[in-house]
Amino acid sequence: MEHETLFRRARKAIPGGVNSPVRAFNAVGGTPIFVEKGKGAKIRTADGRILTDYCCSWGAMILGHAHPAVSRAVAARAKLGTTFGIATPDEVAFAERLCALVPGLERVRAVNSGTEAVMTAIRLARGVTGRDMVLKFDGCYHGHSDAMLVKSGSGILTMGASSSAGVTPGAVADTLVAPYNDIEAVEMAFRRHGDAIAAVIVEPVAGNMGLVPPARGFLKSLRSITSRHGALLVCDEVINGFRFGFSSYSALYGGITPDLITLGKVIGGGLPLAAVGGKAKWMKLLAPEGPVYQAGTLSGNPLAVAAGLATLDALEREQPYARMADLGSSLAVGMSTIAAEHGLPVTCQSFNGVFTPFCTDQPVTCLEDAKTCDTSLYVKLFHGLLDRGIYIAPSQFECNFISAAHTVGDIDAFLSAFEAVCRS
Ligand SMILES: *Cc1c(COP(=O)(O)O)cnc(C)c1O
Repeated sequence: MEHETLFRRARKAIPGGVNSPVRAFNAVGGTPIFVEKGKGAKIRTADGRILTDYCCSWGAMILGHAHPAVSRAVAARAKLGTTFGIATPDEVAFAERLCALVPGLERVRAVNSGTEAVMTAIRLARGVTGRDMVLKFDGCYHGHSDAMLVKSGSGILTMGASSSAGVTPGAVADTLVAPYNDIEAVEMAFRRHGDAIAAVIVEPVAGNMGLVPPARGFLKSLRSITSRHGALLVCDEVINGFRFGFSSYSALYGGITPDLITLGKVIGGGLPLAAVGGKAKWMKLLAPEGPVYQAGTLSGNPLAVAAGLATLDALEREQPYARMADLGSSLAVGMSTIAAEHGLPVTCQSFNGVFTPFCTDQPVTCLEDAKTCDTSLYVKLFHGLLDRGIYIAPSQFECNFISAAHTVGDIDAFLSAFEAVCRS
């Protein structure tokens, strides 16, 4: 079926025609694509094209689409009932598994989305400390709860301004925004508001302004500043967790143990499943043990937990991380080299199979840097690649993901297509 026809129908039944804004292609123009099915690294669109997928459901599909073990686990579980509103043995196994794999995760609660996980982490941090303020970093995304829909105002460190209509000034008044990688700004925030800050929340590797790694010492400084001031450090690992290796980024590469961790995307194996966890002394403040309320009809959903467990099992069995990292670095080096040969400013930043081709010749270390990108060049790259059978994120300020199903052949094909786009 034609995508134009589908999109016309979609706009009459769904706001903007999509169930999540970036899918509408507003940043790149043109008609959004519709996907019928996927297998491994490939997706088939509703108009019958086969594309190599570098979105992979924003990283959730780390094993590729329709991985046999995951599909089998979900099908088997579906026959046994998909939700009860009563505890199930599998959710216990899932929580035990996460706690065993992630240092600092002593208790963990399953929720349905990353948004919910973060919302709960923030409420818990406030409940634990009796403080109101939360410090976040400009360009990091933590889901769409009111307190997190905040962007920086002007200046190095600012009281946030709402980045969405419908969010009350009251809801954002307690959110401070600092530039990512700017430890001075964090120090300043604590000098001014130290006894009012409940938590600092950070994506250890920023993934929602494009891929931006933490500067050396940044995470460790956050750990020591928060500890010094009695604030909680929340690592939002909804993208990071189990993406760069078989645990959290904070443990594998960050060298820190946060107070609370949020997980999502990869751990749900393609179903709606996320988690919030951390030190037992904090987590025990959640209801029913403690006074901080949190609940969910579908929390720990058996179908989602089956997909999550099967995904963790397959990742452990297949250990695809080193391969994904190799493919990612060939792709990033290849793109930057080809672009330079054609005199185009493209700096492809990558880490362990996650990458963003930033349309600038400068390294990107924070949102201000990212904003200098030539987004019209990105639009050209996006459509040029799409015309040649390759789907990357429909926005400059997103990550792209290599899955365990991508091959050397896929990367070669990507680079030839990219070369052709650069030439055109
Ligand atoms: C995707 C994401 C979220 C939100 O997760 P949803 O499941 O989309 O609600 C939160 N934090 C980070 C870092 C994310 O990348």
